[in-house]
Amino acid sequence: MTPYTIDDLEHADTNHAIQVADRIWWVGHRQENDIFQCHVYLLEQGNQSVLFDPGSQLTFRHTLRKIEEIIPFSSIRYFVCHHQDPDITGALPLIDQLISRDDALLVTHWRTQMLVKHYGLNLPFWLVDAHDWTLELQDRRLDFVFTPYAHFPGAICSFDPVSRVLFSSDLFGGLTPEFSLVAQDENYFEALRPFHEHYMPSRDILGYALRSIEKYPVRMIAPQHGSIIPEPLVTFMIEKLKTLECGLYLIARGNTDIQKLSQLNQTLRDITKTMLVYRDFRDIAGSLLDITQRFLPALSLEFYARLDGGRVLHLSPESRYRGIEADPPSAVARILDLDHKQWRELNAAGAADAFILASDSSIGPSLTLPLFDPERGTAQAVAIIHLSAPASSTEELQQVVEQMSVPLQVAVEREVIYRQLDLERQRIYERSIRDPLTGLFTRIYMQEVVQRLCEIQDRNPGNPVAMLMIDIDHFKSINDTYGHNQGDVVLRQVAATLIESVRSSDIPVRLGGEEFAVFAVGEAVAHITLFAERLRARIAALRFAEPMADRVVTVSIGVAVRQPREALLDLIQRADMALYGAKNGGRNQVCVAPAPLLHARRA
Ligand code: GH3
Ligand code: MG
Ligand code: MG
Repeated sequence: MTPYTIDDLEHADTNHAIQVADRIWWVGHRQENDIFQCHVYLLEQGNQSVLFDPGSQLTFRHTLRKIEEIIPFSSIRYFVCHHQDPDITGALPLIDQLISRDDALLVTHWRTQMLVKHYGLNLPFWLVDAHDWTLELQDRRLDFVFTPYAHFPGAICSFDPVSRVLFSSDLFGGLTPEFSLVAQDENYFEALRPFHEHYMPSRDILGYALRSIEKYPVRMIAPQHGSIIPEPLVTFMIEKLKTLECGLYLIARGNTDIQKLSQLNQTLRDITKTMLVYRDFRDIAGSLLDITQRFLPALSLEFYARLDGGRVLHLSPESRYRGIEADPPSAVARILDLDHKQWRELNAAGAADAFILASDSSIGPSLTLPLFDPERGTAQAVAIIHLSAPASSTEELQQVVEQMSVPLQVAVEREVIYRQLDLERQRIYERSIRDPLTGLFTRIYMQEVVQRLCEIQDRNPGNPVAMLMIDIDHFKSINDTYGHNQGDVVLRQVAATLIESVRSSDIPVRLGGEEFAVFAVGEAVAHITLFAERLRARIAALRFAEPMADRVVTVSIGVAVRQPREALLDLIQRADMALYGAKNGGRNQVCVAPAPLLHARRA
């Protein structure tokens, strides 16, 4: 019996059939001085035997002799053709004449049948895709693996689950200067490399085929070309092939366009990866700058993006791409006014350099790229790539620019949405803390902040809190006499006086209507009554324009100094009581609340 341990295989006599696994034989022919050796394998199954990729007219008589060393040729029932190439199917007309049994079948994919039928064979086809991709044998079930477009649209492989041999056809094939039936070590990959670069159209397609194969517990790979891959090398070769860039164009050295295309593809892959990997716009911009530098002397990247309501957001390295509202340079503003159609016309009208604004003094040497909103068709943003020197427009550059636009647009749009939400949040917050008429703090803000001041006082009695409650006298009559607008003028003027008079640590509040408050902390508390008196006098001294030139506006003020642990509501109530006292006392005066006799603590 022929040995089939891996070590022995190396020295096996290729003039005879060589057993490579249990009941599996190599029955190919060693061609002299040919780096493209073609292997044929026989799966011996009594009179249900299988021949894989029978071979060509050149080699078949040798194959036939080796088969007959093992079994009579008539024991073969299945002739598996993994694809249509002549080195696999060329011998079929010979085989067709030799076949004496009625149940012999040509096992292949429908796509191969379409071509092989032109041999005009009597041998009937048995299509894997019409039989659930499996072939029932005596003691095993062969699995067929669809590896489409790996060299041929209908390409398949076969997996034998008993021996765990994968008959891989062109996958894992190699170009071998020295015939070697078994791959010795990892160096065999160097034989796989040029073969796959030639045969496999792309890394994606090869990757798909490899993933399909990985589902099987492969112990040995028996390719149609090159060397058999033994178990210890199987995983290595699969993983290594996954990293290989494929396509005949890779070796078309004269054709630089194709190489540029592949470079461009890589760039696009990198851009997509950038978008997927990074969340922070700063990282995205950094990575895009790196990518751009492959094509251009790029120094930095900045963006202007439209916000709602005609405002423009500026994302630049200076603000660490935080996004700040800004006026765009004139050239950018012009582009932001364009729609996609106008832009196309501009380019078509020979202004192919339109996006290179090297001469624009408002930007400097740069590549300025409009990013169009795909739905509205209007320029939503402008990307500016600053250059160390003016660049000229090449076809390649145009292609890169075109390809970069969409992912850039998506990234900027995403960032604009984030920023817009931020700004909106900021605006809502501002509105909640600032009274729009007077610019004073609101009651909402007061409650939050003064509550915190009270807590500070409770922890540290050296930080007292006091409050003034201020109410304009006879304000209703101002409204009634001069109208509501004049009433607003008075409110604003009184508020302005408040703002001018307070210390930076004080908190002036519009409580509502014509009622105001000032909260004072620390040192100021000691002089709070004096301060209230000064404020009253300043307001009484205010003079208004016509029609209120004769009108004197006065306020009444209640003062309360917070007692340790006094609840805020209690403090406000006491100030209110004091204010009430000032009103009762004749208005235009200050009244100080007495300290409470007993202060129950409120929550
Ligand atoms: P007193 O001296 O007792 O405080 O009398 P008063 O008229 O000032 O007090 P009252 O509370 O009777 O009237 C306050 C008026 O302020 C009633 C309301 O229509 C008016 N007011 C409230 N908010 C505004 C505002 O934002 N603008 C204007 N113009 N008037 C307002
Ligand atoms: Mg009032
Ligand atoms: Mg009033």
